[in-house]
Amino acid sequence: MSNRILLLGAPGAGKGTQSKRLADAYGLEHITTGDALRANKDMETDYGTPREYMDAGELVPDGLVNEIVDAALADADGFVLDGYPRNLSQAEYLSEQTDLTAAIFLDVGEDELVRRLTGRRLDPETGEIYHVEFNMPEDEAILERLEQRDDDTEEVVTDRLEVYYENTEPVIEHYRETGDLIEVDGEAHPDEVFERISEVIDEDPTDA
Ligand code: AMP
Repeated sequence: MSNRILLLGAPGAGKGTQSKRLADAYGLEHITTGDALRANKDMETDYGTPREYMDAGELVPDGLVNEIVDAALADADGFVLDGYPRNLSQAEYLSEQTDLTAAIFLDVGEDELVRRLTGRRLDPETGEIYHVEFNMPEDEAILERLEQRDDDTEEVVTDRLEVYYENTEPVIEHYRETGDLIEVDGEAHPDEVFERISEVIDEDPTDA
């Protein structure tokens, strides 16, 4: 049976980085609502454009993200889900669509989240993630084309974290109460965090 992994955590906890690695290492589909929405930021929908919500750090309406996840799950055998569910109603919807084999929470403190998010830079050509303090490219050409996400500015980061504590922490609490949550300390080098997650998946696939 394929792994069906949910990766939970605040913005900046390392979900994107670790999901990519897990998808490669375990042959899983990487399902991420954030990337899907960014690729369709100016698409007109019944709810307006995703940009209207994203640039303000708010959640995009459930109807829209549920549809994205629905389509992605239909195409995936094994997957790692990243950035969804972000509130209890999405969590309920997900439980109607699929059974998870693991729900993993990447635990990172608020100061570290802010430092990671505001310093984050992206290479638009490769999707590679850098950081102004910890990890910058040596290649001048890459350096010059690095971009900051519209919602990684200090102002929007504060709003995103508020939305996280209000809407998404209850989701984490929900999986903790059902006994399915596996907590991993996410405050370490990405290689180390990846090792911790892999150990959990290899040893203890929980039926969430
Ligand atoms: P992320 O890349 O996961 O940090 O997501 C960036 C932005 O996309 C969020 O701040 C939201 O505006 C939107 N978004 C991503 N996933 C969801 C979701 N599951 N529900 C609602 N909005 C989402």
